This record gives sequence, C-alpha cells and structure tokens, in this order.
Amino acid sequence: PLVLGIETSCDETGVGIVRGHTLLADAVASSVDEHARFGGVVPEVASRAHLEAMVPTVRRALDEAGVKASDLDGISVTAGPGLAGALLVGVSAAKAYAYALGKPLYGVNHLASHICVDQLEHGPLPEPTMALLVSGGHSSLLLSPDITSDVRPLGATIDDAAGEAFDKVARVLGLGFPGGPAIDRQAREGDPEAILFPRGLTGPRDPAFDFSFSGLKTAVARWVEARRRDGEPVPVADVAASFQEAVADVLTRKAVKACKEQGAGHLMIGGGVAANSRLRAMAERRCEDAGIVLRVPRPKLCTDNGAMVAALGAEMVARGRTPSALDLPADSSLPVTEVSVPDASLD
Ligand code: ATP
Ligand code: MG
Ligand code: FE
Repeated sequence: PLVLGIETSCDETGVGIVRGHTLLADAVASSVDEHARFGGVVPEVASRAHLEAMVPTVRRALDEAGVKASDLDGISVTAGPGLAGALLVGVSAAKAYAYALGKPLYGVNHLASHICVDQLEHGPLPEPTMALLVSGGHSSLLLSPDITSDVRPLGATIDDAAGEAFDKVARVLGLGFPGGPAIDRQAREGDPEAILFPRGLTGPRDPAFDFSFSGLKTAVARWVEARRRDGEPVPVADVAASFQEAVADVLTRKAVKACKEQGAGHLMIGGGVAANSRLRAMAERRCEDAGIVLRVPRPKLCTDNGAMVAALGAEMVARGRTPSALDLPADSSLPVTEVSVPDASLD
C-alpha cells in the first residue's frame, strides 16, 4: 500500500511516503533552531512552525516520491503522545487531506511508529519484536507480537528519559540544545573510562527492566560543579564520553537481558537516542556476543520523521485494520499500549 504519514508531535514537521516497506520520501522541516535560544522546545513556537511548514512539506514529499495524492491508499498521522498543540496541527491536516481526497485515515501512536520504521530499513519485523525505545520523552523495553495492534511494556524509566538526560547533561556542559548530537560529537574526543558514573537500577534487587537516569544526571552535574568550584578546567570531552558510556552500558545490558529472558532472537532499537554512535556500537558488540540479531534504523529514521508514521500506516492498511474516524482526537498522553486510535463509533 502507498501511504503518506504526517508527524508533528514535537518540533519536527515530518511527512513521509512509503509503498509497503519501501521508503519513497522523507521530508522533514525542523523548528529546532527557533527553540535553541530557549534551551528547550517551546510548545507555542512549535505549533506555529508546524502550521507554516505543513502544506509545503506535504508538497515536497509528494514531489520527492513522484506520486500523486490521488494514488494514495491511506493517510496516517501521529495522534499522540506529544505536545497537544503540535499534535493538533498534524491531526487537523491529516483529516483535511483524508476528507478532501476520500482516503482512509489512520491515527497512530508515535512510539509504535519509532519501532515500525525499521521495516523500511530491514524488512518485515519479526513477531514478536523486542524493542528498546529510547527518545526525548521515553525509555522503555517493549515486546510487540503485532506492531499494528499489540505493544506490551516490560519496563520503563522511573524518572528521566535517556534523551532528556542527554539534553540536561549537555546544558550542564554548555553544549547547547539539542544535547544528544552535541554529546555524541564531544564524546568522540574523550575517554569513556575517565570517570565512573553510576549505572542506575542495576543492583541485584532492582527491577530488571526499569531504568533510572536522574541519579546519573545529578552525579554528572555534581562532578562538574566540584571542578568549577576548585577552579579546575572541566574536561568536557571526557565527561561527555563517560556519561554516554554509562547510558549505553545500562541500556544495552538490560535490553540483552530482556531478549534472553523472553527468548527473543532479535533486538530493535528505536527513538532519537538510537542515533547515538556509542549506543549503536555497544549494542552491536553485546548482541553479537549473545547471538542476537540487532536491528537499528539509520540515524535519520531514528529521530522524529514522517516516514515512520507512514510505515506504521502502511502496515495498518496491509493488515486491514479499521481506519480512525474523521473526528479523531489528538491525545498528548496516548499510552504506548494504544497503537492506533480506532473508529470512535466502536466505543
Ligand atoms: P518522544 O519520541 O519520546 O516523544 P521526541 O519525539 O522528543 O521524544 P526523538 O526525535 O524521538 O524526540 O528523540 C529526541 C531525543 O534524542 C533528544 O533528547 C535528543 O537529544 C536525542 N538524540 C538525538 N540524537 C542523539 C544522539 N546522537 N545521541 C544521543 N541522543 C540523541
Ligand atoms: Mg526533535
Ligand atoms: Fe520521537
């Protein structure tokens, strides 16, 4: 099926077009530069930027894919979770296109889309799929027997998300926003073993598949403050590398453990933090050692984009899932277990 997907949950206006598992277009307009001076995404600024970027980005995606809107088999859109006002722009646009073109509309979960996007990179997902989802707002281990209808959380962060920790540590180090890519870059010049930062929730009595990154973030901030207080220079690259090492260590250790416990032969890693080079390298090594096949999409498909929403939409169409109603709501706190927002008439 030929599907156009719209993503506006945060600061990326993404429009992707796929045919089945084939990526035809991935147009992204980001308002990240407009937020940088505030040190974080400003919801109202994001909503306005989505509004301005929406139609041009849809046109760009159709051009790039070389398809006509009338040829589409469906339109999918991120219905949640995310920023309420930002989601509303995408959902409203998707409804308008679906209605005007007479195409079925699929309101889907942003988190399931972060997983499903890997079909564009590595073909059909194994069933069940074991997924480590690590992004700006989430850090979870998920088991999905069917990505269009069934996503089960095995564990999640009890405080900060991994991406949030990257962003906060980057701020402490004065590396700007967004922090993930900046830390990744700095860490290349640093020693990952320079400082031993804490690995949260890895004790024998701790929950096996939950995460905690707020203690790590505080430990990094304290370490840096102490150096500054003593008038010593802060070895930014070493701090970045050592922090990144702690995050990658915990994430990969728990993910591999989950695969072993559940008998999963594959591990998928998705979400913005999956773009991290150290996480990718460590996961590769540890999965290989454990005989697990690792699936991580290329970095551009890990951060927010429309192709991931189109990928899940195409799977919904292929499996004959019920489309959403045209009064589809945007749900800023849509739970990860709700893969799509079904026809309201079924309630
Ligand atoms: P969510 O999917 O939970 O709603 P999100 O939509 O805000 O989160 P994503 O694009 O999925 O955003 O992820 C963004 C996060 O990924 C940010 O916290 C960013 O710092 C982080 N990130 C991006 N690239 C990297 C990288 N190379 N290394 C580490 N973190 C990264
Ligand atoms: Mg973003
Ligand atoms: Fe995301």
